[in-house]
Amino acid sequence: MTPETRGDRQRRVRQERRILELKASVNPSVAPGTPSRRVSPLKRGDHIAVIGAGPAGLTAAYLLSKEGYRVTVFEGDDTVGGISRTAQYKGYRFDIGGHRFFTKIEPVQAIWEELLADEFISVPRMSRIHYRGRYFDYPLKAMNALQGLGLVNAVRIVMSYINTQLNPSPVEENFEQWVTNRFGKRLYEIFFKTYTEKVWGIPCTEIRAEWAAQRIQGLSLAKAIASAAALNKRSTKIKSLISEFRYPRLGPGQMWEAATERIRGLGNRVLMNHHVSAIECEVDATDGTRRVTAVRARTPAGEERFPADHVISTMPVRSLVRALTPAAPEPVRRAAEGLRYRDFLVVALILDAEDLFPDNWIYIHTPGVKVGRIQNFNNWSKAMVPDPGRTCLGLEYFCFQGDGLWNSSDAELIALATRELTELGLASGARVVDGTVIRMPKAYPIYDGAYRDHLDRVREFIDPIPNLHTVGRNGMHKYNNQDHSMLTAMMAIWNMQGATHDIWAVNTDFEYHEEQRLESPRPAADPLPASG
Ligand SMILES: Cc1cc2nc3c(=O)[nH]c(=O)nc-3n(C[C@H](O)[C@H](O)[C@H](O)COP(=O)(O)OP(=O)(O)OC[C@H]3O[C@@H](n4cnc5c(N)ncnc54)[C@H](O)[C@@H]3O)c2cc1C
Repeated sequence: MTPETRGDRQRRVRQERRILELKASVNPSVAPGTPSRRVSPLKRGDHIAVIGAGPAGLTAAYLLSKEGYRVTVFEGDDTVGGISRTAQYKGYRFDIGGHRFFTKIEPVQAIWEELLADEFISVPRMSRIHYRGRYFDYPLKAMNALQGLGLVNAVRIVMSYINTQLNPSPVEENFEQWVTNRFGKRLYEIFFKTYTEKVWGIPCTEIRAEWAAQRIQGLSLAKAIASAAALNKRSTKIKSLISEFRYPRLGPGQMWEAATERIRGLGNRVLMNHHVSAIECEVDATDGTRRVTAVRARTPAGEERFPADHVISTMPVRSLVRALTPAAPEPVRRAAEGLRYRDFLVVALILDAEDLFPDNWIYIHTPGVKVGRIQNFNNWSKAMVPDPGRTCLGLEYFCFQGDGLWNSSDAELIALATRELTELGLASGARVVDGTVIRMPKAYPIYDGAYRDHLDRVREFIDPIPNLHTVGRNGMHKYNNQDHSMLTAMMAIWNMQGATHDIWAVNTDFEYHEEQRLESPRPAADPLPASG
């Protein structure tokens, strides 16, 4: 075989890159697809058990309730909304990470309007990146970054980019290779590596390129610089999309509290503190096929059993497999155990001053601190902050359950957050007067090198169960926002009523990130990961 020349290699890398970009840009989200599985039809009088009172579970329960079906929602926690809840502390309300309401999916928008029409407010959007005491636009803009970093750094970044173009990584399997090939090593190290590793807690070399391709479509340093001028004109239009976002006056939890009320009003149950610990199945003795027959839940009154004709589950895939009774075969359980999650905690600090900074949130790229992002809830909705003259900030820390951050006491975390806020110069002399901590396990399904194989293995086993539907974010181990989580729930119901949607094709790409296109000649996604 003739050895590959540098030219050949560059051509091949370009081709492979293009294929990945094309794959990522195909968005089959709402189109009916090949039925990926056989589904038990929904019949009048059927009882549907919904596991989880987050956006996906409550959407399913709400739609079914409106159509007169019998539904019970089982929620392990004492609060509805899942990751999209609004936490409350002494009258202060705050998100588990700020939750913007943005969608291009009409049926989702319709439900939002139906539930909260007059309670939506329009919030002016501002978010920046904090890097070594300087602020950079978010989403990242090439010219702004180059100017902000100074001439010497700008030259180094461009040289490093040229060097990468001459010697690209021949394979693009991981996040680092993918981003470096498009932005050069230096820009990657400043604006991608630190923050991404903070978010995921694993090296960028262990994060799949597929994830970067989904989030950073069509963008490269050269394209960004080249199109900056041309886009100046277009940016007015694009800006109008991004300069405001919609938000429930009392935070995202208000949406899910309203949904719960409607479901109950329609005669169905949303049972809090009901943690589903087992999903009972009957197994056909002849062919080994399964059907779900009941769920068992740990309740304040002890374990209870609830027969069900259908189960819609939003619980994490790993927990779902653990709950199957009789147990799934050993290789399936092993695959499920291989799925990993990133956990998250918010330290809410209350300060005795207003107007600390104008942003809704700030990304912290500055090395040396653990905080990943800082929300300013005063700038989301004034109704979330009851005391005039005070500010409520949410300092977000990405962690793993059981690690040093997660296990720190609340007092230690409040002290850490207070210290880091001052170090970053964001307290502006204000005093922290109070604080609280909210821990959110499994906030992010991790897309590591093995997750796809694990998920496929699990799906081979659960997909053929015709009356079990796994939907939502952790329910499908997909980095979905609220709208896509809701859409998967809707599609599950439509499929039970005879439609043929491929739920697994619902994607996180450009629809949601429409508002985050910038400096790209064609629709591009968020140039920085993990806004949600
Ligand atoms: C930091 C951050 C910021 C985000 N920002 C945005 C944003 O700006 N806009 C946006 O649209 N989306 C955002 N998202 C995504 C959004 O939070 C999720 O898409 C959405 O909450 C997923 O809904 P879900 O119902 O699938 O799952 P979840 O919200 O995870 O809800 C699942 C529910 O199931 C319950 N449960 C789990 N196991 C069991 C069990 N065994 N028994 C009973 N109950 C169980 C859980 O307690 C939980 O209440 C963000 C996410 C994060 C982490």
